[in-house]
Amino acid sequence: MSSHPVNEPILGYAPGSSERAALQAELDRQMSDCPDIPCIINGKKVYTGNIVPQVIPHKHGHIIAGVHQAGKAEIAAACQAAIDAQDAWIDLGLEGRCAIFERCAELLAGDWRMKVNAATMLNQSKTAFQAEIDAACELIDFWNFNCHYAREFHDQYQPLVSPPGVNNSTEIRPLEGFVLAITPFNFSSIAANLPSAPAVLGNTAVWKPSRNSYHSNYVLMELMMEAGLPPGVINFVPSSGPDISDVCLSNPDLAGLHFTGSTAVFQGLWQRIAEALPNLRSYPRIVGETGGKDFVVAHPDCDEQGLLVALLRGSFEYQGQKCSAASRAYVPKSVWGRIGGPLCDEVQKITMGDARDFTNFMTAVIDQRAFDKITGYIERAQASDCCDVVVGGGSDDSVGWFIEPTIIVTSDPNYESMVEEIFGPVLTVFVYEDEDFHGVLKVCDEASPYALTGSIFATQEADIQTAFNALRFTAGNFYINDKPTGAVVAQQPFGGARASGTNDKAGGPLNLLRWMSPRSVKHTLDIPQDWGYSFLEPDE
Ligand code: NAD
Repeated sequence: MSSHPVNEPILGYAPGSSERAALQAELDRQMSDCPDIPCIINGKKVYTGNIVPQVIPHKHGHIIAGVHQAGKAEIAAACQAAIDAQDAWIDLGLEGRCAIFERCAELLAGDWRMKVNAATMLNQSKTAFQAEIDAACELIDFWNFNCHYAREFHDQYQPLVSPPGVNNSTEIRPLEGFVLAITPFNFSSIAANLPSAPAVLGNTAVWKPSRNSYHSNYVLMELMMEAGLPPGVINFVPSSGPDISDVCLSNPDLAGLHFTGSTAVFQGLWQRIAEALPNLRSYPRIVGETGGKDFVVAHPDCDEQGLLVALLRGSFEYQGQKCSAASRAYVPKSVWGRIGGPLCDEVQKITMGDARDFTNFMTAVIDQRAFDKITGYIERAQASDCCDVVVGGGSDDSVGWFIEPTIIVTSDPNYESMVEEIFGPVLTVFVYEDEDFHGVLKVCDEASPYALTGSIFATQEADIQTAFNALRFTAGNFYINDKPTGAVVAQQPFGGARASGTNDKAGGPLNLLRWMSPRSVKHTLDIPQDWGYSFLEPDE
């Protein structure tokens, strides 16, 4: 076995710790600054003058950056820069490329850590802990493990057989052309990983960040340049979705799409690529991780306190804005009778406010659109005959986009909030008759089009196995006696199927396989000198 990297240790930010003091100082610095964020095209800063403000979700009157949006001309220039940079990037070789991304990991683990964490706390309203596990630890792991996996392909993905007189080999080529990376707001790690994972293998990229994470994502772009990323390898273009689609998806050199975001946007992009296909030079690789309706199923015989903690953390950490957040639960009547009250009591203790106040467990949701969408679900549940809002339900968008952690209990397992992705701090619980465990597994499997993450809470091995089999295709990441969030690179490679994506498993080796297009090489040493074959010889 070859040695491999280890997961980045998580800093605790306890009162009095040096990391807490450093993070607070950096937060103060960023609060008193308002940088101009340019596009980065071919390694150069491009200021377009078309500036959009970047605000803090928990204090939306405060602008933390002005972002120069790319228009179609800049996006086209970014595509060309990526295409032009590819030969030299390939020539650098795997070790040269890995050295740069491992340097990125080193910088992020060291001097850049607080800058990136503070930017993520302010830009995406994360607590210190949520920023640390995302923007620092997960991204350090992505960079280190991606390099490790890529090296393994180079060493191991070679033909098994070379007969006498022949040398067979496989060249691990990248895709020919550029990869379009379209990234979501909710994880800084995913944002930087989507352009950089293909780049490890020799691809070059156009990176379109989310309008709600320009500030933190730009800090990561600066970090990669500081680590020695050559011009043109990753081009950072804050821009509108329609502009990026129009320009990139019809470019004949589009080689791949690396997307994370909502299901509807991904489906639209896939359709656009299919339409553009006759004009493209190759069949683009399409990798997309999309929405979820992540579940917790409890068996009547389960660890009830563990279930309570999993529901609280799984549903409400980062305001429920993780693609893996628990948002529907199936709990037996007897268990709900014992934990329903205590769970609501604990939820009422959840502290919510400014991300800079370290005593807060939750902060605000990302923007007005999200606030309106989530509160719409809550208001409809409050008005519905089949729902009870048993805790939370309040909201206030005067200073920041704050929504209380909310639990709905419904008598309809197909009610909208049991089925649709809400992407906010809302958990819906369906309470089932204790003897109907098998039936509820079927309901869970069939209720929603998504299949991203899910958990089973049960004590007996046989019950766990029953759920494991019944829910085989209901989740790409399956948890036993744990919350359905918190996948770790190289431990639980991440991704779901059905409407949740192409399940190409970020944080594991399989994702990297999508970014290579191998060349099989047969090198003949004993060159045939006679065109005849033995079967052509006449019978004796
Ligand atoms: P989103 O779909 O609104 O945006 C994602 C990206 O697509 C953004 O950069 C956005 O600007 C861009 N976009 C939007 N319309 C576009 C268009 N017409 N053409 C091109 N680009 C376009 O998603 P979001 O709000 O940023 O993120 C939340 C969503 O992401 C949720 O659905 C969540 O489940 C999902 N998500 C999934 C995973 C996963 O691994 N499965 C991880 C994180 C987030």
